[in-house]
Amino acid sequence: MIDFNKLIDKHIFREHRAKKIGRYYPSEIGSCLRKTWYSYKYPREVEPDLLKIFEVGNIMHDFVVEVLKSERTPEVELLKSEFPFKLSFKDFLVSGRVDDLILIKESSRNVLVEVKSCSNISFVKKPQNHHVMQLQLYMHAIGVHNGLLLYVEKSNLQTKIFEIPHDESRSLEILERFKVLHKFLTGNKLPDAEAKNKEDMKWMCKFCECKERCDKNEK
Ligand code: SF4
Repeated sequence: MIDFNKLIDKHIFREHRAKKIGRYYPSEIGSCLRKTWYSYKYPREVEPDLLKIFEVGNIMHDFVVEVLKSERTPEVELLKSEFPFKLSFKDFLVSGRVDDLILIKESSRNVLVEVKSCSNISFVKKPQNHHVMQLQLYMHAIGVHNGLLLYVEKSNLQTKIFEIPHDESRSLEILERFKVLHKFLTGNKLPDAEAKNKEDMKWMCKFCECKERCDKNEK
């Protein structure tokens, strides 16, 4: 008998490439700064189970693209999908990929869409702050100032959608976080344990693979 789990593992396996200091990603900037710092200083292979979770996210996004492109959904037009962008600063670069740019026909508005898969849509009462930060940065970088965060439940395709108003001052704060991260990385200084110290970020510590290091303030 074939072992299908092994086939999936082989199919989704990607060569691990350590991140380079000076090249940063929007998806990480809403996370705890110390955790992100560790991910550059102590790069680690992504566990196969986590790779599978990422793959489910890709599958969900492919499905959303199908819906947006469908002839049966003339209310919207998919203009672009999975498109890259770069923001260059004096001594570092921020780059990423935007999920989707759509046209909402009724209002003739171009809107950026960021898709997030989740396990239980009933727990999604409001958009998560780190997702909002990611989308704010995309709106700033692309110059499209309308954003939607779309949550899709993996088991039943139920969705919730949140309109995120563009906020330029928030985008500038996010860019400032990249500057701070870069400064701590190049100066080899450990940032504060941000998530431990902020009420609304404390939950991140439960899922943090650097917790042991962090508890010891290891550099
Ligand atoms: S344990 Fe918490 S504070 Fe420490 S690095 Fe992880 S997320 Fe940040």
